[in-house]
Amino acid sequence: MKRYNPCLTCGACCAFYRASFYWAEADDATPGGVPANLTEKLNDFRRVMIGTNCRDPRCIALEGTIGESVHCSIYPHRASVCRDFEASWVNGKPNERCDKARASWNLPPLEPDAWFTPEDFPKAA
Ligand code: SF4
Ligand code: SF4
Repeated sequence: MKRYNPCLTCGACCAFYRASFYWAEADDATPGGVPANLTEKLNDFRRVMIGTNCRDPRCIALEGTIGESVHCSIYPHRASVCRDFEASWVNGKPNERCDKARASWNLPPLEPDAWFTPEDFPKAA
């Protein structure tokens, strides 16, 4: 079954929330981790993606145009906070934090069918 990823035409959460995580997730402590040079210290325990700890956030690793075409330039190395963030309906339930980020960019909440291409829709008998 083909799946369509609506996050690739969104990116709102990467330009709305602070992306902070336990400091040792960065690659100067964990090989293959989050590139440390794209992070800054938040406190003694946590780091934050550069660009997300400010008034008009946008993660330094986000490429593209929000609401049109985006991708995370460190996708395989992104932090747990990014991996754990669930888009609405990706697992069959809404996520108000996804909806809130999209609303801040004047994007409507995802609908349950956002994850399917048209040919996946059940056909009427
Ligand atoms: S690291 Fe990637 S997934 Fe995480 S906030 Fe930045 S652009 Fe988004
Ligand atoms: S706000 Fe929701 S739909 Fe948009 S990129 Fe983030 S998880 Fe995906």
